[in-house]
Amino acid sequence: MEKEKKDGVPPLVWLHDYHLMVAANTVRQFADTNKLRLNLGFFLHIPFPPWDIFRLFPWADEILQGMLGCDMIGFHTEDYCVNFVDCCHRRLGCRVERKSLLVEHGGRSVRVRPLPIGVPFDRFVSMAQVAPTVLSTTLKIVLGVDRLDYTKGLTNRLKAFEILLQNHPEHLGKVAMIQIAVPSRTDVNEYQELKEEIDHLVGRINGRFTTPMWSPIRYIYGLVSQNELSSFYRDSAVSFVTPFRDGMNLVAKEFVACQIKEPPGVLVISPFAGASETMLEALVCNPYEIEDAAETLHRALTMPDDEKTLRMNQLRRREKLHDVDFWMRSYLKSMGSLAPEEEDDIPLPMHINPLTIDDFDEYLSKYMSTSRKLALLLDYDGTLAPIMSHPDLATLPQETKLVLQKLATNPDIHISIVSGRNVNNVKKMVGIENITYAGNHGLEIIHPNNSKFIYPMPQEYEGKASQLFKALQEQVCKNGAWVENKGIYLTFHYRETPKEMQEGLAMKATHLIQEAGFIAGRAHMAVESKPPITWNKGRASIYILRTAFGLDWSERVRIIYVGDDVTDEDAMQALKGMAVTFRVTQAQNVKTAANWRLSDTNSVLTLLEWVDRHFERRKANQ
Ligand code: UDP
Repeated sequence: MEKEKKDGVPPLVWLHDYHLMVAANTVRQFADTNKLRLNLGFFLHIPFPPWDIFRLFPWADEILQGMLGCDMIGFHTEDYCVNFVDCCHRRLGCRVERKSLLVEHGGRSVRVRPLPIGVPFDRFVSMAQVAPTVLSTTLKIVLGVDRLDYTKGLTNRLKAFEILLQNHPEHLGKVAMIQIAVPSRTDVNEYQELKEEIDHLVGRINGRFTTPMWSPIRYIYGLVSQNELSSFYRDSAVSFVTPFRDGMNLVAKEFVACQIKEPPGVLVISPFAGASETMLEALVCNPYEIEDAAETLHRALTMPDDEKTLRMNQLRRREKLHDVDFWMRSYLKSMGSLAPEEEDDIPLPMHINPLTIDDFDEYLSKYMSTSRKLALLLDYDGTLAPIMSHPDLATLPQETKLVLQKLATNPDIHISIVSGRNVNNVKKMVGIENITYAGNHGLEIIHPNNSKFIYPMPQEYEGKASQLFKALQEQVCKNGAWVENKGIYLTFHYRETPKEMQEGLAMKATHLIQEAGFIAGRAHMAVESKPPITWNKGRASIYILRTAFGLDWSERVRIIYVGDDVTDEDAMQALKGMAVTFRVTQAQNVKTAANWRLSDTNSVLTLLEWVDRHFERRKANQ
C-alpha cells in the first residue's frame, strides 16, 4: 500500500489475481472502520469468461461483488472486460455503460479497463545478448515453454508436431521440438494424469520417428532459469504457443523480445491466448484443429526470411513500447495515482452517467409493450422515502407523492404500498387515497375501498411478543437504541448508538428474539422480529394481486415490484418470472433475487416517472 500523498489522491491498494477476487470488500471495511481513504484496484491475470460460462459457477454472485468492491478492475483484453461488464449486468442486475466500461454498484462507479500486461523487454534483450548457447545444433528448433497445465494445450501441440512429421517428411532429421514443462500443482490428480499422458505421447512420437542420428522431441520436465530460457528463445526457429485458454501468455512476448538474430524466428500463437489480441503479426493456429496447426507450423518453418523479419520487427516494436513498465504506468494512470501524459489516449470516463428516465426503457419497454394493466407494488422506507434516523422523520418526498397521486388516478394502474410499518402508519405517511396499503409485512391490508384483511395470527404470539418487547427494552435499549412496537412485530433500532457498540447490540437482540421463539432478520441498522409464520411480503403481494385482478391475475396484469430490504426479497422470490423487480441498495455485497439494482430513492422516483410517461404515450397512441 502507498502512503497518503499530499495531492489528495488516496493511497493505492492493488490486489492481484483470482486468489484475491473476493478480498476487496474486507479491505474496504477495514479502511472504513479505521477512517482511511483508499483507492482499491484489482488486476485479473487469467481470462474472464463470457456470461453463458460464468453463470454455471455457483458462487458467481460473490465473485462479481467481491471484484466490484474495487474502484478499478483491470483485465488483459477488451474481450475479458466486456465479458465482466456483461456478467455484472445480467447476474447482479447492475446498471452498466458498455462503451465506457463502467458498472454501477453499491452507489459507486466501478471502472473496468483493458490493460494488457507486457514483459521486461529490455531485460530479455540484454539476457539474449549475453546468454551462452545451450542448443549447439543445426536443427531448426520448435520451442514450447509452459507450466504443465491442461489449459496450455500441450497434448494437441505434440500431436500437431507428429502430424507435421507425418505429412511433411522433408522435416525429418532437420527439425526438433524442445518442450520445457514446468511442474505445476503436482498434488492434483488431474495434473498427474496429464503428466502421464504427455510422457506417453512423447515416448510414442519419439519411438515412431527416432533414427540413430536424430530424435524429434526433447522433453525437459523441470524449471529452467530465465537466463537459460532467453538462450532457448533466441536460438529457436519457432515458438509454438498453443493454449486452449490463457489470460495473456508471457512466453510469446519473451520469445519476441529475444529475437535479436537475423533472420529471426517465427511466433505461432493460439487465438485463445490473450496475447493474440495484440500480437497481430504472429501466425495464428487453433489448437483444437490439429491438422491445421500442423500446416501452420509447416508454414512457419518454411517462411521466407524477409517475411520473418517484417513480422518480427512489428512484433518487437510493439512489445518494446508496451513493456511491463508501460503496463504499470497505464494502470497507475487509470487509478489516478499517476498523472496522464500528453501522448496518452483520451481516457474513458471515470463515472457512470446519472440514471435517466430513458435507462428504464431497457428494463421495462419490452415487458410493458402489451396493453395490459400494471400493478405497482412498492415498499415505503428506503424505497419511496429516504431512510432517516427515526421512522417518523422518513416522509414521502413531495415530487414522489405528486407522481404517485397522478398514477393512482389512472384506472389501468393499481398501486400497493407494502411496508413493514403498521398499516395505519404507512397509510398516514403516504396519504394517498384509492390505493392498497399493506402493513406489518402484509399481515394487515387495507384495500382501496377501505375493506380490511387481517392475517389470522395464533393468539399465543401476542403475549410472547409483549414479553420479548420488555426483554429487549431492559437488555439492549441503551445509548440511543430503542424498540419499535408494532404489536406482534417488533423492530430493534440501533442506528443512534456508538459505532463500536452496534454489532454487539444487534447480536444480543438477535439472540433474545430467537430465544423467545421469533425469527430475527437484519435490516438497516435494525433487527426485525417476526413470528414464525409463513405469511410475508411475497404471500401478501400475491394475495393483493389475486384480490385486485382475480385468480388468473398473472395473465392479465404486468407487475413491477420495488423494495430495498431483506423482507422485500420474499416478494421478489415469490414474483420471480412474473414481475420485473428492483432492489434499492447501496450495499457493497448484497445478494438479491431482483432483476435490477437501483442506487437510491431518487432512482425510484425516476422509475415512477417512466411509468407515467409510458402511460401518457400509450394514451396518445390510442
Ligand atoms: N518460466 C521460467 N522458467 C521455465 C518456464 C517458464 O522462468 O522453465 C517463466 C516464463 O519466463 C514466463 C512464465 O514462467 O515468464 C510463464 O508465464 P505465462 O504467462 O506464459 O504462463 P502462466 O504460467 O502465467 O500461465
